[in-house]
Amino acid sequence: MIGFPGKDERQRSGCLWDVVVVGAGPAGAVVARELALAGTTVLLVDRRRFPRNKVCGGCLSARTVEQLGQLGLDKAVNQLGGKALHRLKLGGWGHLVSLPLPGGISISRSALDATLVNSALAAGVEFRSLCHAEMGEAYDGFRSVILRSRTKLEVMASLVIDASGLGDSLVFDSEPERVDSANSHRIGCSAILDHSGDRYESGTIHMAIGMGGYVGVVRVEGDRLNVAAALDPDLIRLHGVGVAVSYVLDAACFEPIQGLDSVPWKGTPPMMQEPKWLAKERLFAIGDASGYVEPFTGEGIGWAIHSATLLAPLALKAIKSWNPSMAADWVSLRRGELARAQRDCRWFAWALRHPFIARGVLRSIESMPVLGGPLVRRLHGSTVSGAKTTWP
Ligand SMILES: Cc1cc2nc3c(=O)[nH]c(=O)nc-3n(C[C@H](O)[C@H](O)[C@H](O)COP(=O)(O)OP(=O)(O)OC[C@H]3O[C@@H](n4cnc5c(N)ncnc54)[C@H](O)[C@@H]3O)c2cc1C
Repeated sequence: MIGFPGKDERQRSGCLWDVVVVGAGPAGAVVARELALAGTTVLLVDRRRFPRNKVCGGCLSARTVEQLGQLGLDKAVNQLGGKALHRLKLGGWGHLVSLPLPGGISISRSALDATLVNSALAAGVEFRSLCHAEMGEAYDGFRSVILRSRTKLEVMASLVIDASGLGDSLVFDSEPERVDSANSHRIGCSAILDHSGDRYESGTIHMAIGMGGYVGVVRVEGDRLNVAAALDPDLIRLHGVGVAVSYVLDAACFEPIQGLDSVPWKGTPPMMQEPKWLAKERLFAIGDASGYVEPFTGEGIGWAIHSATLLAPLALKAIKSWNPSMAADWVSLRRGELARAQRDCRWFAWALRHPFIARGVLRSIESMPVLGGPLVRRLHGSTVSGAKTTWP
């Protein structure tokens, strides 16, 4: 154990916090804001320079939009010029279905995430970008976090929240078992293109499903095209991302998009499902860092925000007085609330990977579109009649 200066000195030098939140995506920014609004001192760090883009389809479900409203963040997000969503076109395996999808919006992650971070700053959060965090030990009523930017700094907090997203997380280096069987998992990729013309109309999520994965195309602010994909690693290895995306679009009979092989793609590590832990002494994981499920129509950001608001009351108690049972409390709270919501997406992801079942589902919806209503309600949270959304 390293010898630390006294508590007063650490507070003065900015090395002692009630909570350090690692990762300024939706989960991190929202939990940081909630905790700062409750009067705690919060340090939020991210290894990237903000505003930053992030691999994502850029779609917020109706349920997510409603959550933002409950947090008082809807006005700020609505000002970003995102597009109102009203339709999902789902194509693949020789079928194309078109389903009403009211209530969501499409927006680039650089604009959305920067707005959420700004709202956290306005609540009193201190934010450091270009700052890579590594988890330190828990001792003497604190957990330490090592921050690396231009210099190395060790800070102490009553609580650390891991909101570091999918892979390369706070404990990645120290716990390699978290990436077991990585090769069998799909890789996420996305890019934003300037793409004029009337193909890929605004307000519609175009979702192509095929053998090697799926591709979502949507217009975001400035009428740019956000193209996101979850692809089998072998397909990427064989053809490269741009060609693999074109292949999935073409196989599902969607219009070709010029320039996909020359655009700069962003990628994720293999998208794993469950982490090995959700909580440790003075440490909680939220958002994608607490488990990842392939999203379809804009659920991932909603789950991240939901896990942040779910954790906030427990985090406040933990900051005040840590009790070892709190780790188990978070595991059961998080599993109870989110596992149910994510089960439908897992089921849908599984079904779409099996051509026989996927064809059956799409054929049934194609011949009886009314069957698509329950699916949209479960995943997206909005009813076609516009009734209030709930977590399933
Ligand atoms: C292909 C694809 C398409 C998707 N499409 C959608 C969609 O349309 N709609 C939707 O709702 N969801 C979608 N998702 C899911 C969504 O992107 C995630 O669920 C969401 O971003 C999770 O938010 P988060 O805050 O947990 O993590 P992130 O948004 O990933 O934020 C984590 C942050 O932590 C930072 N970080 C990581 N490690 C460290 C470290 N050691 N030190 C400091 N900072 C660190 C990262 O830089 C990052 O900014 C998609 C995902 C993929 C892969």
